[in-house]
Amino acid sequence: MIIVLKPEHTEEDLQRIVRRLEDKGLGAHISKGEQRTIVGAIGDERVLRETPIESWPGVESVLPILKPYKLVSREFKSEDTIIKVNGQEIGGRQIQLFAGPCAVESREILEEIALSLQPLGVGFLRGGAFKPRTSPYSFQGWGEKGLKMLAAVREETGMLVVTELMDPRDTVLVCKYADIVQIGTRNMQNFRLLTEVGNIDKPVILKRGMSATIKELLMSAEYIAAQGNEKIILCERGIRTFETETRNTLDLSAVPLLKQLTHLPVIVDPSHAVGRVDLVPAMARAAIAAGADGLLIEVHVRPEEALSDGPQSLRPAAFASLLEECSRVARAVGRTL
Ligand code: PEP
Ligand code: MN
Repeated sequence: MIIVLKPEHTEEDLQRIVRRLEDKGLGAHISKGEQRTIVGAIGDERVLRETPIESWPGVESVLPILKPYKLVSREFKSEDTIIKVNGQEIGGRQIQLFAGPCAVESREILEEIALSLQPLGVGFLRGGAFKPRTSPYSFQGWGEKGLKMLAAVREETGMLVVTELMDPRDTVLVCKYADIVQIGTRNMQNFRLLTEVGNIDKPVILKRGMSATIKELLMSAEYIAAQGNEKIILCERGIRTFETETRNTLDLSAVPLLKQLTHLPVIVDPSHAVGRVDLVPAMARAAIAAGADGLLIEVHVRPEEALSDGPQSLRPAAFASLLEECSRVARAVGRTL
């Protein structure tokens, strides 16, 4: 449940509420908004059944949260969450771009890609150093060597680094280099990993599991938020259906629906959704029209030579045209790109 405090509550009232919740074995999550301070009671709320919380000093009202996810729900926080990272905002009016190769392959190729993206206004360079490959014999990524390449290209271009974390044991290592940590579709329900990134002080892109429902995605986000990290960016990247012409099926309805259910920013990855370059631009435009806060797109200077996901990687020129088209759609829906 959430406890809404009176505008005139004192710090002492707040501390007393926290203490009383803790005495009942519950956690207290304090959220100080522009207008209101709210305390979320975290844990098994049945222990509060007989407690007249409404009469506690400083309390205005008590609202049950009906959803199984709480901290990430709109009921808990009605304003959109805007995540700030090194001067960039995710979830505001500006649509953010996360682009780059599927995997970090070499310093030279990464640099070439980044230098083609940076003049287009791409703020975030994506690239995997730890790759979750279906086959154990496919390129698995360069690990720390790849992270160092990302950091070197960040130095050179000023673009911020987004990269995937696959294993809780690599958390410290990945955080040393990443500005945003990505949790991939295959790990959306790796609860140890979610708990781990719940304890870091960096934004997390949480990709929807390829067979996960929207509720499951939100419950996974709740795992992260419950540890204290609320800088979560949800990413729709396509789900498995019976269709085989595309790699996955982009569930665009997830965007407006997530916007209703949660205050967190929502981005779309059309590349992994369709798996083929010819369909990426149309899905990117549609994502913006549907209300996405950002696009995550794979770009490679020579897709035919890419070590992974070449068929879905756009060349820089095609990506530039996609941006032209998307910025017109963005304007039409009151956003900037
Ligand atoms: C990726 O972004 O390169 C990736 C592996 O994505 P997903 O986890 O969505 O398949
Ligand atoms: Mn990929």
